[in-house]
Amino acid sequence: MSYCELCGRQTMEKKMVIVDGTVFNVCIACSKHGKPYAPAQVAAAKKKKPMAVIRQQKKIGLADATVLTPDFARLIREARMKMGLTHEQLGMKMNEKAQLLRKFETGALKPDELFAKKLERYLGIKLYVSAEGSGDDNEE
Ligand SMILES: [Zn+2]
Repeated sequence: MSYCELCGRQTMEKKMVIVDGTVFNVCIACSKHGKPYAPAQVAAAKKKKPMAVIRQQKKIGLADATVLTPDFARLIREARMKMGLTHEQLGMKMNEKAQLLRKFETGALKPDELFAKKLERYLGIKLYVSAEGSGDDNEE
């Protein structure tokens, strides 16, 4: 029995596909996300990295399958209050607009990835959670 190099599942039948210029031995399900392997394509893919390939890899997202937690508004508010900071004070520390922080805390606006990471750092919270629970440490 062998393992799919992308999802780590045991698989009877494996296919060689190219994902982002690298050849993987994967299960049939995962083979849909890559291009069929052909030696000439590897070199080409490495050089060019067509957008389609990059997008598909993102869709698989095995390495960083994280999403903004739906709870972000509450987490931000609670962390800020725990630190005893007003929106303005936190905004000043972060060099960001207090108005934005207010919107995040009411859930009216979603922080983009950069802002969310900043919030994580300043507030010591985790806003990004694994998209599929605990599937992080599969075998390679
Ligand atoms: Zn697989």
